[in-house]
Amino acid sequence: MNSKKKLIAGNWKMNGGLAANEALLKALVAGLENAACDVVVAVPAPYLAQVQALTAGSVVALAAQDVSQHEAGAYTGETSAAMLKDFGVRFALVGHSERRQYHGETDAVVAEKAQRALAAGITPIVCIGETLQERDAGQTEAVVKRQLAAVIHLNGHCISEVVVAYEPVWAIGTGRTASPEQAQAVHAVLRAQLSAASEKADRIRLLYGGSMNASNAAQLLAQPDIDGGLVGGASLKAPDFLQIIAAAR
Ligand code: PEP
Repeated sequence: MNSKKKLIAGNWKMNGGLAANEALLKALVAGLENAACDVVVAVPAPYLAQVQALTAGSVVALAAQDVSQHEAGAYTGETSAAMLKDFGVRFALVGHSERRQYHGETDAVVAEKAQRALAAGITPIVCIGETLQERDAGQTEAVVKRQLAAVIHLNGHCISEVVVAYEPVWAIGTGRTASPEQAQAVHAVLRAQLSAASEKADRIRLLYGGSMNASNAAQLLAQPDIDGGLVGGASLKAPDFLQIIAAAR
């Protein structure tokens, strides 16, 4: 059993707008006075300044949904870690399955992104997870171990500076959640891999993501190696997100 504070991160994906963001964040901040866990929102880059202003002085920490693997220069459309830092960004998702799937991000690119984030003082939330095809072929363990191995030894940084999110691809946005036992089984494998690599493995927060919602969050979060959640769809509705946060004690 570990005693670290849980972390609930909302991933808005490519959703939102000035008016909707304001309404969502006002409801969220108002409902968060006694949060027992850390709360993060990963927002689209154009809204970083707006969300920074609306969450100032609250417990909500700001996250980016991606970060460039490059430091600066001729990389049209990219956002560097230093730019994110200018807007008070504290966390950045890296290697989300939608980035791996639609933007061809490899384990090596994900590791470079994690490294860039850390160098700028931003905590990477490294997303890993198997596809349905890989699960059906009995490859879940091999896939997640390979993905985690890519970020275990980041130059000059300790793995304990990273947050890991296990997100089975077949559970993301599908309404099909991994059962608490399925999720815990993978988290235990990841914890063992981390323990073999670092004596600080117990400090690393392992989040579960994939159709987490107000009804299933408590059971998932009660598992011994699940230290929080990465929440997509349900983070866009303040009452649902607040219920998930309330379940994270
Ligand atoms: C996600 O985008 O990381 C995610 C887990 O989405 P959802 O909760 O909608 O499945």
